[in-house]
Amino acid sequence: HAEERGNGNFQFYLPEMKAETLKKFELEADLLKAIQNEELYVEYQPKIDVLTQKAIGAEALVRWEHPFKGNVAPATFIPMAEENGKVIQLIDDFVIRTVCQQIQQWKKEQVPFHKISINLSAKSFLKNDLIDRIRQCLKDYSVPPSSIELELTESSLLKSSELIRKQLEKLAEMGISIALDDYGTGFSSIHYLKQYPFHTIKIDRSFIHNIVHSVEDEMIVKFIIELSKGLQKKVIAEGVETSAQYQLLKKYGCNEVQGFLFSRSIAGKEIANMFLKDKAVLKEKEVETRLL
Ligand code: C2E
Ligand code: MG
Ligand code: MG
Ligand code: MG
Repeated sequence: HAEERGNGNFQFYLPEMKAETLKKFELEADLLKAIQNEELYVEYQPKIDVLTQKAIGAEALVRWEHPFKGNVAPATFIPMAEENGKVIQLIDDFVIRTVCQQIQQWKKEQVPFHKISINLSAKSFLKNDLIDRIRQCLKDYSVPPSSIELELTESSLLKSSELIRKQLEKLAEMGISIALDDYGTGFSSIHYLKQYPFHTIKIDRSFIHNIVHSVEDEMIVKFIIELSKGLQKKVIAEGVETSAQYQLLKKYGCNEVQGFLFSRSIAGKEIANMFLKDKAVLKEKEVETRLL
């Protein structure tokens, strides 16, 4: 209705901007309350060993159940939290503590698994006290450093920093694994693979999505797998949704897969049951076998 108001776009543009800013502030305030009111919780998505098809680890993913808005996606609230150093630190601490507590519980119950991964933003690695906070948490719950892995996205390394590299090196020396997340979405720099102490390379799901129908994507994935293995790193594919994708990744020697084909993120109690099973079940409805 810009014409009715007369003065071009200006009049309705401004209130819209205000609404946006207001919404942002509202969500930011909500986020602080959410941490205090325990609206945040952690779910786990299993990592499947390709050769044995067994769930051997998991990625911890933070969830927010807002009292009125329902589930808010981490892709919405994590970037917002990152704008405020205190908020992202509170979320990091919550996730690290929750995971350590869960690991302690599983060890008591003799639930078998290799590692649980935690996502941390680049902002978190820029804090000098990150290592002390992690070390304290491991100590509080008697968690061995070898039980956790930290995931750092490739795009967060675009502004590569000496502090991030130093912190990663210290963490690796402590025995904590470091994974390069969403590989292929940043500069896909081979240089990073040499410069930072990564144990694991996670191929971004955008390459996996078309792997069966695009020879280009297939060759890119094949190359990343070979490169990772040549550099003695573990390679894992995210976003695996079909058994055709899984078979192709198996053919090229990918070590682990993660995706809806096996499971979405689930509660700690549920994933413990998967860890106890010999083999993970494929969730995909097998069209061919149904037709037979
Ligand atoms: P990410 O670390 O790359 O996590 C994988 C995302 O892909 C998750 O989304 C997961 O639910 C989704 N996913 C897994 N399998 C499939 C699949 O087969 N198909 C499709 N389409 N998606 C799949 P989610 O949980 O919404 O998380 C989004 C991003 O938010 C994460 O990407 C991560 O960067 C960030 N994030 C999540 N939890 C945390 C956290 O505790 N701390 C920080 N700093 N960031 C987090
Ligand atoms: Mg991740
Ligand atoms: Mg990822
Ligand atoms: Mg991703």
